[in-house]
Amino acid sequence: GQCVLACPTASLTEKEYIKEVWEVISDSNKHVVVQTAPSIQVTIGEEFGMPVGSFVAGKLVAALRRLGFDKVFATDVTADLTILEEGNELMERVLHEPEKLPLLSSCCPGWVKYAEHFYPEFLPHLSSTKSPHEMCGALTKTWYAKKYGIDPSTIVNVAIMPCTAKKYEAARPEMESDGYRNVDYVLTTRELARMIRQVGIDFVNLPDEEYDEPFDQYSGAGMIFGATGGVLEAAVRTAHKLITGDEMPVPDYEDARGLRGLKYGKVNLGDRTITIAIAHGTGNAKKALEAFKSGEKKFDYMEVMACPGGCVGGGGQPILSSRDYKYISLSYRHNRADALYNVDRGKKIRRSHENPRVQQIYKEFLGEPLSVVAKKYLHTTYVERGRHPYLVEDKPYEGFDERY
Ligand code: SF4
Repeated sequence: GQCVLACPTASLTEKEYIKEVWEVISDSNKHVVVQTAPSIQVTIGEEFGMPVGSFVAGKLVAALRRLGFDKVFATDVTADLTILEEGNELMERVLHEPEKLPLLSSCCPGWVKYAEHFYPEFLPHLSSTKSPHEMCGALTKTWYAKKYGIDPSTIVNVAIMPCTAKKYEAARPEMESDGYRNVDYVLTTRELARMIRQVGIDFVNLPDEEYDEPFDQYSGAGMIFGATGGVLEAAVRTAHKLITGDEMPVPDYEDARGLRGLKYGKVNLGDRTITIAIAHGTGNAKKALEAFKSGEKKFDYMEVMACPGGCVGGGGQPILSSRDYKYISLSYRHNRADALYNVDRGKKIRRSHENPRVQQIYKEFLGEPLSVVAKKYLHTTYVERGRHPYLVEDKPYEGFDERY
C-alpha cells in the first residue's frame, strides 16, 4: 500500500527496488553510483551478527564494490554541504530576517511531509536546503558528470537510506535537476543487507575499503547527522564560524545529545545568543510548534527528526533480535548514536566548513553558499497538502526518553 504520511516506522511497506538495482548494475551502458547515509555505517553490521554500535564504514564500502557498483560515495560529504547551505540560511535570518525565524531543519522527509499536512503556516520557516542524499544526486549528474566526462543520462544514483520515507522524498516531482531525477532508487539498510546475502558476501570478514573520490572525505559533523540533535550540533559548529568569525573552541555541543524527546537550549555565538529546540518523533515536534505558537517557548532554530532517536532509529534499519540485546547498554538507538559520536570525536576534521571536498565543490561549481547555482541545484520548495479526511494525526509521544 501507499503510505500517506511517508511512514517513518515502515509499518506500511513501500516499493522495493532490489530487482531494478540488479538490472542497472548489470547494464554496461549505465554508470551506477551508490551513496550511503551516515547512519548506515553504524547499523548494517547488525544484519550480519555484529554487535549493536559497530562502526563498519570500511566493510560497507567493500561490500558495495563487490556488488558491482561503479562508484561508492558517502552521503556524509553532502551532509557537510547541507550544513554550509543551512548554516548560511540561519546566519541570514539571524542577522537580516528575524521574522523568518525559527529556521526549521528539512532533511527528514517524514517531518517535512508532516509539516506540509499539519503545519503549513510554518512552511516558510523550513530550510529550503535539500537533504544530503538529494544533493549528492543533483551533484553526480552535474558537477561530477562534467568533471569526469560522463554522460549524465547514463548515471544512475542509488541511495542506501535508513527509511522508506526517503523513497517517497526521491520521488517528489521537484527533486530533479536539468531534467534528471536526483536520486533514482532508494534502498533501505535491510534491503541492502538482503542484496549482500543474495550473492553470499561474507560481510564480517571483508577488508576495510575507502569511499571513492570525489564524495569520500567528510567531517565528524557530517556523520552525526544520523542521530537526533546531530544536524543541529553540526550547524552550530559552522554557524559559530559564520556569525562570529571564530571557530567554536570545543566542537562538542552536549546539550544537543541524548534521547530526551524534546530538548531546548541556548548557544552563545559571540555576543549573540540563539535559542534552539530539538525534537524527535512528530508528536514532540507538535508540542514544540504549539508552544511556539502560544508564546510559551521561543526558539530561533529547530531540528526535527520523525523517528525516535533520529535516523539510527529509522524504519529501514535492522530489526534487533533477542540475541542483540546482550550488547546493549541503555538502548539500541543510544548505542548506534554513540558509535557516531565516537568516530566524530576521533576525526581530525570535525566541522563541515573545513571539509576539503566541500570547499572544492564551491570552488569548482557552486561559487558560494546560497549562490544562484547553489539555489538552482541544492534548494527545493514545499507544498501545503491539507488535511486529508482519512489522515489521522499522530498522537504526541508522552515523554519519550532514554528508557526506550
Ligand atoms: Fe527517515 Fe531519518 Fe526522518 Fe526517520 S528520522 S523518517 S530515518 S530521515
